[in-house]
Amino acid sequence: MRVEILGTRGNIPLSAPGYVRHAGVLVDRSILLDLGELSYLRRRPRQIFITHLHPDHAAFLATREPPSGPLYLPERLPIAPHANVVRRAVQLGEYRVIPVPTEHAVNRRSLGYIVERGRRRILYTSDLISIHRRHNARLGRLDLVITDGSFMRSGGLVRVDPATSKRFGHAGIPDLVAFFARFTSRIVFTHFGSWFFRDVPASRRRLSALGDGVHVIAARDGMVINV
Ligand SMILES: [Zn+2]
Ligand SMILES: [Zn+2]
Repeated sequence: MRVEILGTRGNIPLSAPGYVRHAGVLVDRSILLDLGELSYLRRRPRQIFITHLHPDHAAFLATREPPSGPLYLPERLPIAPHANVVRRAVQLGEYRVIPVPTEHAVNRRSLGYIVERGRRRILYTSDLISIHRRHNARLGRLDLVITDGSFMRSGGLVRVDPATSKRFGHAGIPDLVAFFARFTSRIVFTHFGSWFFRDVPASRRRLSALGDGVHVIAARDGMVINV
């Protein structure tokens, strides 16, 4: 599979050359995971899967003009009545897209997506605190994990909503490396938070030093990974 990371910037005002665009991962030039920029539509994806309805992952929330082609969402959205709500794995020719529920927001359902083609399997999670134990069997062996680079500090930033007692926010990168190392030997971080932009070369080095047996890589806008 050819995996292209279209955008690496989190939902923050900061950017740096090579880290400008919001979330988007294009698999084999056909399946787009997240539409953080409307310009990604120019790549003419055949299907678009959205991880969660935050505007840095679904740019059409701001314009209120969802793309007209096949669109898969984690929950119903009145401005996109034609969209499919993902409840189970979706078979698309030789590809299978498997949803993995993630913990991230209070009032929004969020999903990671495993994209399978033959024996190859990749997982893209976007923003998350955790994946519940009951979904771990779905993860299995993964050739690549692409996940949330919002916070470098352990523990990330997790808050509790007083009304629902639900947690929301982002895990720390070291927490995610420890969790995903059980399932993969290659982890790519994207969706960078402000920590990353203070000194980009140093931040890239800090990330790749985290490995401990696992290959940890900082993404960059337009980076291509062959799996
Ligand atoms: Zn985000
Ligand atoms: Zn989010």
